[in-house]
Amino acid sequence: MDFEKAKKLINDADCILVTAGNKFAIADGLDMLDEASFKVQYPDLVEKYDVHTIGDALDKKLPSWPEQWAMWRRFIDDYSVNYQPSDAMLQLKQLLTGKDYFIATSYFTHAFENAGFDHKKIFNIFGDWTTMACSSGVNHGLKSDLAIQGVPKCEICNSEMEIHMPLTEHFYPDTDANTRMRIFITNNEDKKMLVLELGVDETSPQLLDPIAHLVMQFDSWKYIAADLASDELPEKLQEKALAFNTNVANFLKELSE
Ligand SMILES: [Zn+2]
Repeated sequence: MDFEKAKKLINDADCILVTAGNKFAIADGLDMLDEASFKVQYPDLVEKYDVHTIGDALDKKLPSWPEQWAMWRRFIDDYSVNYQPSDAMLQLKQLLTGKDYFIATSYFTHAFENAGFDHKKIFNIFGDWTTMACSSGVNHGLKSDLAIQGVPKCEICNSEMEIHMPLTEHFYPDTDANTRMRIFITNNEDKKMLVLELGVDETSPQLLDPIAHLVMQFDSWKYIAADLASDELPEKLQEKALAFNTNVANFLKELSE
């Protein structure tokens, strides 16, 4: 019944802003806090560096740049180069076909781009480990790291490059993508906008409150939460929202049927 309501909202919307968080990433195959599978996939990293999850490993400063890049390279190969979209990702793609959309996500493996979404309609708020930035602390631009070997160096200052993620204090968000998202929001203030929240949790608060405030601010905007309960939403948002309190994979499956 409610899924029918959600389908109708999606069909009727002029545009859709997807917020995809950590639990979307899990539904798509990357659980950065999963110790059991990390131990099976990367037993040598557990042994050598005492790291137990992808999240743990990303936070760990390894003794040398070659070791650092060797580890990053494996994650990038496993989760980005050899990426296969999940059913959830394919169902989302189907859902957005023909729609004006924008995706704001904390999922950092280039998965949306790899699944065929338009890279100009994606803002990776926590960066993207298939891109790299200068480690000097100065913003010397972003480059793809997919074709590099060994330890890449900055073309401007010759410092080592690092994956573009907020692992240090000098993380610069992708300002171009941020600007494109702002334009998408501004252009659609008076349109029938639907915000589709998919698996956003406390690991990316940027994707919750600021977006909820926009929906409360603009009369024609509506909100669907896949995996939050109604009482987890701000009171004023509840009347403009459908909250499914299920998991992302199940939510997208139901919607695609
Ligand atoms: Zn540099």
